[in-house]
Amino acid sequence: MTIQSPIEANGRIYPTPKVCAIAICLDGCEPEYLDKAIADGLMPTLKRMRETGTNRLAHSVIPSFTNPNNLSIATGRPPSVHGICGNFLYEPETGEEVMMNDVRFLRAPTVFAKFYEAGAKVAIVTAKDKLRALLGAGLSFDDDRAKCFSAEKSDTSTVAVHGQDKASEWLGMAQPEVYSADLSEFVFAAGVKLLADWHPDVMYLTTTDYVQHKYAPDHADAKSFYEMFDKYLTQLDEMGAAIVVTADHGMKPKHLLDGSPAVVYVQDLLDEWLGEAAARLILPITDPYVVHHGALGSFATAYLPEGADRNGIIARLQAIEGITHVLTRERAVEMFELPADRIGDIVLVSGENMTIGTSEHRHDLAALNEPLRSHGGLTEQVVPFIVNRVIDLGNKPELRNFDALFYATTAAAL
Ligand SMILES: [Zn+2]
Repeated sequence: MTIQSPIEANGRIYPTPKVCAIAICLDGCEPEYLDKAIADGLMPTLKRMRETGTNRLAHSVIPSFTNPNNLSIATGRPPSVHGICGNFLYEPETGEEVMMNDVRFLRAPTVFAKFYEAGAKVAIVTAKDKLRALLGAGLSFDDDRAKCFSAEKSDTSTVAVHGQDKASEWLGMAQPEVYSADLSEFVFAAGVKLLADWHPDVMYLTTTDYVQHKYAPDHADAKSFYEMFDKYLTQLDEMGAAIVVTADHGMKPKHLLDGSPAVVYVQDLLDEWLGEAAARLILPITDPYVVHHGALGSFATAYLPEGADRNGIIARLQAIEGITHVLTRERAVEMFELPADRIGDIVLVSGENMTIGTSEHRHDLAALNEPLRSHGGLTEQVVPFIVNRVIDLGNKPELRNFDALFYATTAAAL
């Protein structure tokens, strides 16, 4: 099937690829991870890409969390357009916190869906299943032109729902543990097999930050993760694909000298100031996979009670050490391109070595085996943006990670 052009998605025209266009989102890939692994000679292909292709840094969207950034990469637009601004949404009318990983919360078509509609073959492999439905929105699996499955549930994937029966068996790799480096390796291995056997026009590979939450860039286990990635990257590159390597967000140490997490418990403060449970603090990092971060990140939003002195509360929160931004909803929408109806009255961001918690008793920190490393704020916004071709990025004042598919298809159309 020939691809009809032009392919337009959310106000942007995408080039028609001549070879497979691949965007790889390395979850939690603080640029330093690559620097350390390259310095040790563990990433020869990525090193060469940096030297002979295009090597830049880009900005993620804020909150620098997984889902908002993956959906920004998938749609090519910020959360104000696609609506996914965290893992959780608070509905003040019902008082309920709702998981935002359902397709009904997605407000824009994905670039994948637009390519699929135009006749292209599209493959998406995600480590965690929480992203699969959102990333696969708009794809049909009845004509062997789309595949979208997760490593996490690769034993039970089906042609009807994922475009692939029993992905683990097809790949010849056992379904990995959810908390493992293997979950990401499965994604890379599946990408190589798809490229070799199925020949997609556009492919998206997105990993999990299990390793990055646990290990700093100079840790041997972090280095071996990137060494493993480079082996798969070499194969993708050798098969002639145009590849953009980027990340959803960086990762910073957020613990005290004794190894305990550095946290400001903002719900406790709001309870003290406004009365028990009068305000509602939402941590959009919270998800069913809390083992590696204890639901502690650097971004929060709060719903204040009717009649609360918003500016007074902002001033008090701003005075707390480690809190870098306390913004009104209006200002946060403007600064971070967020959907106004899905954030609270105020937005809080903490600094490089600080996280924001709700109430102390609500965080299960016993599961944290290593000193906390996490993300969510502006200090985790810088991510790599590396292309295995020389491409003209123009005079863009600020390159975004969600330009990945645009430049992957640009490179693939050269
Ligand atoms: Zn992430």
